[in-house]
Amino acid sequence: MKTLLRNVRIILAFFLILSIATLIGLVIQQRRSETHFRAVAGENKQILRERYRQAGKIISADGVILADSSSGERKYAADGAVAEALLQIVGDYTHNIVNTVESQLQGPLLGNRDNLIKQLELDVRGLGFHGDDVLLTVLASLSKRAYQQLGGHKGAVVLLNYETGDIIASVSSPSTSPTNVVKWQNIPDSALFNRALNGRFAPGSTFKVITAAAWMRSPAFDPNLEVHCQGDVPVVPSGAFENHSHANHGTVGLGEAFSQSCNIFFGQVGINTGPDLLEQEANTFGVGRPLGLPYLTATQSRIEFPRNDRPLLSWAAIGQPAGETVLTMSPLHLAMIAGGVANDGAMMTPHIVAALKDPLDAIYDRRSVTTQFKLPQEVVRPLDQLMSGVVTNGTGRQAAVRGHEIGGKTGTVQMTDDAGGETIYSLFIGYDKTPGYPYAIAVVVENKGYSAAQIAGNILANTSKIEP
Ligand SMILES: [Zn+2]
Repeated sequence: MKTLLRNVRIILAFFLILSIATLIGLVIQQRRSETHFRAVAGENKQILRERYRQAGKIISADGVILADSSSGERKYAADGAVAEALLQIVGDYTHNIVNTVESQLQGPLLGNRDNLIKQLELDVRGLGFHGDDVLLTVLASLSKRAYQQLGGHKGAVVLLNYETGDIIASVSSPSTSPTNVVKWQNIPDSALFNRALNGRFAPGSTFKVITAAAWMRSPAFDPNLEVHCQGDVPVVPSGAFENHSHANHGTVGLGEAFSQSCNIFFGQVGINTGPDLLEQEANTFGVGRPLGLPYLTATQSRIEFPRNDRPLLSWAAIGQPAGETVLTMSPLHLAMIAGGVANDGAMMTPHIVAALKDPLDAIYDRRSVTTQFKLPQEVVRPLDQLMSGVVTNGTGRQAAVRGHEIGGKTGTVQMTDDAGGETIYSLFIGYDKTPGYPYAIAVVVENKGYSAAQIAGNILANTSKIEP
């Protein structure tokens, strides 16, 4: 009986504590949701400014403060070049840019917590209104360098660690200062659009990686196939030809066709493989599937082409959509593909948020290392060899880095700009296989005067060794 009474008392005490905690929690939550609702209703800028006065920090992997409210005002990276390079990732407290850390993680940044016990503990310590910090995977130093490499031209760079999926740099040009965004002034055209995560680019000849894989796994595969390339003579009437290089490659087999990026050879290979297997292989590489990036939205790549149209199929096989063909990929996805080849076929789930940290310095929601897509094992080694050949003696020589094992694939693509004019984009995807340098990269420059391979080489030459 005594034990029973004691148990009842313990249970009563427990419920009393629980209900007090719940009550306090409810009051806090109530107060929070009122401000939240007021802010959401029209996203009043003044209210947003108030809400971010005690918001948590956003910190880069190299310890640079990218956003901070400790002065009572929301401030962005002290180095203006870093702030500009990471603008479309970090965002702004006015939420003039969507799909950023500031907007997508405003809950934790503002300290809106579901865990009432945690909230109670923070309240008791006087930290209840402080937001949590967001720790990113990006390096401020390399992001700044990557952004500067674009030289003010429209384009994007994604650099990632292909063993972990951590995004080391993700930049989109043009950009501007966070101050301009908050004040809504002097914003260059398309500066608020994140080309790295949401750009829909035709992949150009970088797509030959997928075409080669599809062919190698198809019944049509012939390792001894040779095709005679006469440059401007299309592979089939109205089909693919050397529309950019106008090069006459002569008689080429797989190795030379890949390193010289021969459109005639790969146009033929696409026709031999057929639309179904080409599309199926693209899906295996992640086209048409979610890329798995947590918190932020990464645009899915797309492929759709008419069946029974050999000319259009030959164009699709070289990454140039024509007619009704839809073929778009984002720089993030392109970097993941290069990384998958370097990482023994495992395309890791990408991450930009490494972890969250509460005001008591407790780390939570740490990112996990997982595989997003698995490439067929039998194509990994051949693709690695082909991509190495591009950088050692092919079209991607400018991406070479002394003392490093770099592989990659170049691309050139013809696009129609907003004014209806023709523009040429330069692309490069690649990776470093040097031990301790698990980096994969994608570069897109919307200007034919610039070499994406050169930009990639300049960035890969400045990465740091990762000690195991
Ligand atoms: Zn050719």
